[in-house]
Amino acid sequence: MLIKLFLYLIIVNFSVSENIREKRQVSLKRREYVWTNKILYYKFNANLPEVSKTSMLKAMQLMTKETCVKFENGQGDGNYVNIMNGNACSSALGKNNGVQTLSFGKYCATTSTAVHELMHALGINHEMCRFDRDDYVTVIESNILEYLKYNFVKLTSSNSYNPVPFEYGSVMMYAPKAFANGSHETIIPKDNDYYYTMGFQLTSFLDYKRLNIAYDCMCKNATITCKNGGYPHPNNCNKCFCPDGFSGQLCGTIDAYQTFASTMVWTTRTIVSKSPQTDYTDYTIITVALTGQADNVVLIQLSEKRLKHQKTIRHSFDFMCKLDIII
Ligand SMILES: [Zn+2]
Repeated sequence: MLIKLFLYLIIVNFSVSENIREKRQVSLKRREYVWTNKILYYKFNANLPEVSKTSMLKAMQLMTKETCVKFENGQGDGNYVNIMNGNACSSALGKNNGVQTLSFGKYCATTSTAVHELMHALGINHEMCRFDRDDYVTVIESNILEYLKYNFVKLTSSNSYNPVPFEYGSVMMYAPKAFANGSHETIIPKDNDYYYTMGFQLTSFLDYKRLNIAYDCMCKNATITCKNGGYPHPNNCNKCFCPDGFSGQLCGTIDAYQTFASTMVWTTRTIVSKSPQTDYTDYTIITVALTGQADNVVLIQLSEKRLKHQKTIRHSFDFMCKLDIII
């Protein structure tokens, strides 16, 4: 039985900061850009602010926890990333020869931006650069600032590959008006429901999966079978890596912040998000479950990014839901 729920979702406090630059368009299809032994070596430049270091270390910790990629402070075999203070938040793509720069000044210092730039350094490109992007978004070149157009260049199937489905909510996706030369959109989702969620820079389940596949982290001889799209966790092949909203050894448990029963009439629900964070440099994500009949469940993710300049932040979300069709 399939239960279809129509949802009307209002996300408050949508705001995105974009100042991300990269200089190259290469991809992990060229294995020389993959870091040897899955270790990215880095050094913090003396000019790097403390807040930037903190964000970087937190991002590295998160990525190490969910993938087999490691980050080590040092020069390695001579190929390493010099993380330095700079005006832009930018990184070379993949491993280059010798010392490469990752610019990560005070302005960039959020965990999500740190993950974004480290993903670039590991060889992951922007989501809107995928060769199949035209099936999901419309990129309007005439609205993009001329000197930043290189951030939107479409890859080809011969120089890149897509190990996971396209994802509007990827940490590597830009917001609709990113790098606009005026007030108009530079990227419009084909499915308009994603308009307000593009560009949140949350690190998603598929972002980690993409990295795990690219760096050959996936368990080779796992004996467990994961449910609901999960896969054996590269750091513990006896436990599944679950998509948001699921947990348990095999991802068979619904793990929602709040659960609501669906109704036959439009009903407004209010969710009060988790306790406010104090540093205003991070984001939260909340998964809500709507239960229908016969154990059918719809999961909704609400995301909220907090920026330093925001003085007041609402911590509640309203949405409406209705049980619509039973097939
Ligand atoms: Zn980027």
